[in-house]
Amino acid sequence: MAIIGIDLGTTNSLVCVCQDGQVRLVPNSLGQVLTPSVVNVEANGEICVGAVAKERLVTHPSDTAASFKRYMGTEKVFTLAKRSFTPQELSSFVLRQLKEDAERFLGEEVTEAVISVPAYFNDHQRYATREAGRLAGMQVERLINEPSAAALAASRLSGQEEGSYLVFDLGGGTLDVSVVDYFENVIEIIAVSGDNHLGGNDFDEVIARRYCEAVGIIYEELEEHEKASLLRLSEKCKKELTARKEAVLIFGPEGQAFTFTNMLLAESCQNLFDRISQAIKNVLRDSRRTIDEIDEVVLVGGSSRMPVIFLFLQTFLGKSPCMIGSPDEIVAAGVGTYAGIKERKQEIRDLVLTDSCPFTLGTNVANHSDHARPIMSPIIERNSILPSSKIGYYTNAYDGQSHISIGIYQGESYYCEDNIELGKIEMDILPVRKGEAMIEVRFTYDINGILEVEVTDRYQNKTERAVVTSRNFRLSEQELEQRLKELNTYKLASSGGIRTRLVLARGERLFAQLLGDERREIVEVMQRLEKIMNEQNDQKIANSLREAEAVFDRLEGLEP
Ligand code: ADP
Ligand code: MG
Repeated sequence: MAIIGIDLGTTNSLVCVCQDGQVRLVPNSLGQVLTPSVVNVEANGEICVGAVAKERLVTHPSDTAASFKRYMGTEKVFTLAKRSFTPQELSSFVLRQLKEDAERFLGEEVTEAVISVPAYFNDHQRYATREAGRLAGMQVERLINEPSAAALAASRLSGQEEGSYLVFDLGGGTLDVSVVDYFENVIEIIAVSGDNHLGGNDFDEVIARRYCEAVGIIYEELEEHEKASLLRLSEKCKKELTARKEAVLIFGPEGQAFTFTNMLLAESCQNLFDRISQAIKNVLRDSRRTIDEIDEVVLVGGSSRMPVIFLFLQTFLGKSPCMIGSPDEIVAAGVGTYAGIKERKQEIRDLVLTDSCPFTLGTNVANHSDHARPIMSPIIERNSILPSSKIGYYTNAYDGQSHISIGIYQGESYYCEDNIELGKIEMDILPVRKGEAMIEVRFTYDINGILEVEVTDRYQNKTERAVVTSRNFRLSEQELEQRLKELNTYKLASSGGIRTRLVLARGERLFAQLLGDERREIVEVMQRLEKIMNEQNDQKIANSLREAEAVFDRLEGLEP
């Protein structure tokens, strides 16, 4: 039975499988390995994930969501096409799409997955990720930390089995920098740092603002849709600068051109580089390492492709980063490698020492001077090494007490009310005299950073397991089944005709963004295409699609 590896990214997601010991990235129905983490819901309840949804972000903003990974483990609710979804439900659609792509690629059903998560993800965020997997109809075998996956892939691909890595992951909206050791089948995250609001998007914005400055437009005064289209063009310009020395940005009805070079980009991004250097300094300080003690600097994330990033790191660190394969594929390759190891029933331990247990976990005990304010009784203390399983021993507070309520708290405060309540276990106990009950509370915090709580009444030898009832974040097994059924009524758009749908969605987006003659040209192309689609002649449709794509590329200023 195949286990697939998934990089569930904020901007893009990928799925990877291991076949005959070979790691393979799975192409989606458009033939691309990167699937934008964007979900669109149609009025009829059809779900569309990826490139088509990304186009609809502009044309149908109230039916489309992106960047929902940022809200995993929170109570945020997204309303799309008048229906409500949690972040993990939106993620489950992305996962379902990736699962389908993998099934088509492998020719067999897939029921198990390994999914990567940021190293700093807390208990709620990890739980939400697992729930997303379940809602997509998969058992999540394991969560693996993104920097661990990157280090694993780097070690395999570079042929060096072991070492100390500095993983530099610059994605669409986030920067994660980690020091990771990989020795003797243990991947240990020594320190993590980063900036939750620094990524490729910020470089796009710098380009957009620099352009406005140069041609005398006031960026702040642009309308939302104008900003959106300028940012799109800026991203395009940024990507061109990765491949060439210069790129020209042309925007607006007057279409003034401005030429960017990497030199100009670097000058304009000083403030972003300062924030990047701060994150690197922090991670080296926390890991108590110098750069000389790092064997390899691994570039991860689409934005690490930028030459200005490479040069900056080389100068700042005095060491050349290594670019193994494509930086935006490396986490997925690592997760796929790990899934393969899992399939062979081998084990690599993935530890997060610094970050996965940053808070104390404990329960409530009676406060004899103020019954309304129970006191925190720590069970697993902060910075405990994982996995950790600890037992706290408790007893009853009064004669004949027949019920106990075991709260599960996270935090460092003396009073429970000042800590975060993660859940609660209610249990009937055997009524005995005060102080005679023997209640054991076991907290197990596993290497995935997931907490399980078990309460045992030794007199009855009765155990309640932690179905954590914090309704805000977690579903019970029953609720999960119920929600799974409901979500299954949403169908993913079929992969047939995906290219046509992408062209139509793109046409709609360009229509919204452009004006005048260009709009008329779009209408003509779209009408022709729709007419030909009715004739159902595959050859003609293919020609017409090519024609439309060529026109759209030209209107968007994309080189052929
Ligand atoms: P995430 O981890 O956030 O899901 P990715 O690692 O896929 O995201 O990175 C997406 C970012 O990478 C986007 O901001 C995109 O503009 C940027 N990017 C992708 N390709 C290039 C390129 N060739 N040059 C510069 N930036 C790129
Ligand atoms: Mg990523």
